[in-house]
Amino acid sequence: MSTTENAIACAEAHSAHNYHPLPVVVATADGAWMTDVEGRRYLDMLAGYSALNFGHGNRRLIDAARAQLERVTLTSRAFHHDRFADFCTGLAELCGMETVLPMNTGAEAVETAVKTARKWGYRVKGVPDGMAKIIVAADNFHGRTTTIVSFSTDPEARADFGPYTPGFEIVPYGDLTAMREAMTENTVAVLIEPIQGEAGVLVPPPGYLPGIRELTRERNVLFIADEIQSGLGRTGRTFACEHEGVVPDMYLLGKALGGGVVPVSAVVSSAAVLGVYRPGEHGSTFGGNPLACAVALEVIDMLRTGEYQQRAAELGDHLHHELGLLVGGGPVRAVRGRGLWAGVDIDPDRGTGREISEKLMERRVLVKDTHGSTIRIAPPLVIAKEDLDWGLEQLREVLRG
Ligand SMILES: *Cc1c(COP(=O)(O)O)cnc(C)c1O
Repeated sequence: MSTTENAIACAEAHSAHNYHPLPVVVATADGAWMTDVEGRRYLDMLAGYSALNFGHGNRRLIDAARAQLERVTLTSRAFHHDRFADFCTGLAELCGMETVLPMNTGAEAVETAVKTARKWGYRVKGVPDGMAKIIVAADNFHGRTTTIVSFSTDPEARADFGPYTPGFEIVPYGDLTAMREAMTENTVAVLIEPIQGEAGVLVPPPGYLPGIRELTRERNVLFIADEIQSGLGRTGRTFACEHEGVVPDMYLLGKALGGGVVPVSAVVSSAAVLGVYRPGEHGSTFGGNPLACAVALEVIDMLRTGEYQQRAAELGDHLHHELGLLVGGGPVRAVRGRGLWAGVDIDPDRGTGREISEKLMERRVLVKDTHGSTIRIAPPLVIAKEDLDWGLEQLREVLRG
C-alpha cells in the first residue's frame, strides 16, 4: 500500500463519510501549490472554495497570526480585547457600512442574518409575531444547519433532516417577477447569492440585482447579499454586487475573511438593522476572538489597496478568454463566472465532473466538480499567470483525451 492509500484508508476507517475527497493527501502548501505526502506538487485551482483567496501560507497572514498567537488568542466576548475595535471599524469601512457582528463560519453568518431579519421585521417593520418570511432562490447554497437546509432545493443537502424550519419562500434564481409576486407585507428579507457558487457559478441576468435592490427598497424589505464565496476579491471587485452597481442592506462574509488560517465570518449592515440586538440575544464563544480579528484585519488591509481585486480582474479576463475558446463544437458546453471564478460545463459524454477532476488530479491540477458535469475553477488570487496557463493546458489535455 502506498503512503497515500494508507493515509486514505486510515482516514476512512474513523471518519464520517460526509465528503468524497479526491485521493490526494496534502502535507504542505505554499501560494497556489500544494505538496502531497509523497512529494508530488499540485496546482490548487479550488482555493478552499475561496477561503484561500490570498494563497496558502501567505506571509502577511501567517505573520499576523503568529504575532497574535504570542499575545492573546481568546477572551470570549465577556471581556473586551484590543483587536476588536480595529477589526469592526476596518470591516465596516471596507463594506461602506456601519456595524459588524462577527461569527466564525459562513453558516453562522447566515443564521445570524436570518435572526436579524426576523427581529428587524418584528421590532422595526411591524410584522406580526411569528409571521416573518424570507425569500430565497432555488439552487441556493447558504450552509448546512437545520434551518439553512430547510430552504435548500438540493435533495442531497436536505433529505432526512426534517422537520424543517418554516418561514422561507423559494423563487427561481434570476426571476424578478417571481420574486415580486412572492413578496407580501410579512416579507422581511431577500437572501441571495449575487453569483450562485455551489450551483455552478451562475451569474444572474443583468438587471437582476438592481431589480432586487429597487423592489426591496420599495417594499421595506432587507436585501441580504451572501458574499461568503463571491466576496473579498474573487470576482475582480471587493463584492460581486459591485458589478451591478448594487449596495445591499447587509453583506454576509466568511471564507476568505479568515485568510485560510482561521474561520472568521461576519454580518455587516447598518446601525439601524444590527441595532436590534440587546446583550444576551445572540452570540458566539469564538466570534470576534483576538486571533480571528488579527488575521481578518490583515485580510481587510490587503483588500484596501485594490491590488488583489485588480489581479483577479486581469487574470480573470485571461481565464475566461481561454475557457471561451473551448466552448462550442468542443467538449465544453458553457462557461460562466466572473474574475478568477469559473463554472465549466463539460459534455456529459466526456465524463462526469468527478471523472474530469480525477484526470486533472493525475496531471497535478486540483479542482472540484459540482452538480453533474460541471467543474469549478477558482485558484488563489495570487496564482502566477504562467501557473494559470499551465493549469489551463492540463485542462485542455484532459478534454482532448
Ligand atoms: C460556503 C458558503 C456558506 C457556508 O459557509 P461555511 O463556512 O461552510 O459554513 C454560505 N454561503 C455561501 C455562498 C457559501 O459559499
